[in-house]
Amino acid sequence: MYLRIKYLGMSLGILFTWKGIIMIREIIKDEAVLQQKSVPAGPGDLQIVQDLKDTLLAHKEHCVGMAANMIGFHKNIIIISLGVFNLVMINPKINKKFKPYETEEGCLSLVGTRKTKRYHSIEVTYLDEHFKQQRQTFSDFPAQIIQHELDHCQGIII
Ligand SMILES: [Zn+2]
Repeated sequence: MYLRIKYLGMSLGILFTWKGIIMIREIIKDEAVLQQKSVPAGPGDLQIVQDLKDTLLAHKEHCVGMAANMIGFHKNIIIISLGVFNLVMINPKINKKFKPYETEEGCLSLVGTRKTKRYHSIEVTYLDEHFKQQRQTFSDFPAQIIQHELDHCQGIII
């Protein structure tokens, strides 16, 4: 069962499941809002992490990643789908990037696809959802999703 309500000016989807009630945030499509830069996140922002997980789950058929500003929070938090699990990155930064290439991407917040430049391999530092510092290298598709979502944090839409 799925309900859509208006609460504090925001539209929310409410999904009733066997695990309880899941809140699904509306996807922001207003480019002026998406172009605002996000600010660093802190331990008080864990509800945003949960909302990202729930909203990504609701869109999993056609969405592999999401940035917090796509659901209305201008904080540097992204989530990416790695198939079997989702990876949350808080305040992620790309330190190194290798092997640029041209590609075309779509976005849940936009209609159609746009051309962009990405790097095959990136080294990223970030805080995980327990606020532990992580440093990791990603390649190919996961690296592409991270670059796309990090652009969102900077207010860049493809
Ligand atoms: Zn996007």
